[in-house]
Amino acid sequence: MVVLKGVNKHFGSLHVLRDIDLTVDRNEVVVLIGPSGSGKSTLCRTINRLESIESGTITLDGRPLPEEGRPLARLRAEVGMVFQSFNLFAHKTVLDNLTLGPIKVRKLGKAEAEKRARELLDRVGLADQADKFPAQLSGGQQQRVAIARSLAMDPKVMLFDEPTSALDPEMINEVLEVMRSLAAEGMTMIVVTHEMGFARSAANRVVFMADGQIVEVRPPLEFFESPRSERARDFLSKIL
Ligand code: ATP
Ligand code: MG
Repeated sequence: MVVLKGVNKHFGSLHVLRDIDLTVDRNEVVVLIGPSGSGKSTLCRTINRLESIESGTITLDGRPLPEEGRPLARLRAEVGMVFQSFNLFAHKTVLDNLTLGPIKVRKLGKAEAEKRARELLDRVGLADQADKFPAQLSGGQQQRVAIARSLAMDPKVMLFDEPTSALDPEMINEVLEVMRSLAAEGMTMIVVTHEMGFARSAANRVVFMADGQIVEVRPPLEFFESPRSERARDFLSKIL
């Protein structure tokens, strides 16, 4: 589904992604972990073209990203992304946040976009918040709106970059629950997170990165019980 082959990227003299090979299958949940600065965010950002790459290829369903003649907005619709900061449109209602993209990029009619938006709000437990503005919601609620907004574009794959890191502890679970249910419904997901409980229970595979390289790719229980590399052992000893 998402295939990265030989992907390299520098920031100046810093080799931030080194020969990255990674295949994420349809319906798969891949959790990306590793020390700060190892390139997790950059890797996510290359997949939806927020960052360019210098060599290698990234394909989605066998089609190269980006594809000649296909607008970037269209690609971004196929690759949903949820960040640590919620990035909602502050001056728009929750409902408008969810309908703007589908109306503009997907050319949906307003009524159809609103119907779909309400279904998605219901799915993330926010059916009664459609007319609020983002600032009137808690962090956990805003992040659930951000997830619903990405889903409104009907993405083929969802990228999550530390979606719960900016949340107060009591709100982390409500967001992880939404992500768990998405995973259970078969959404293809790449998730950067420090929530090792989520990685254990929801991931099909854990990808451990260090210094811009993929060091281990393992099923979560195997990885947490018997990491093969010194780097992974060292990392786990610090966070578990
Ligand atoms: P964290 O766990 O702290 O979020 P990360 O694994 O997501 O870290 P990245 O954000 O991908 O790491 O950064 C990888 C490296 O690239 C870091 O050394 C970072 O300082 C550097 N970097 C990231 N973005 C840029 C940029 N736009 N310009 C220059 N250097 C950058
Ligand atoms: Mg990061």
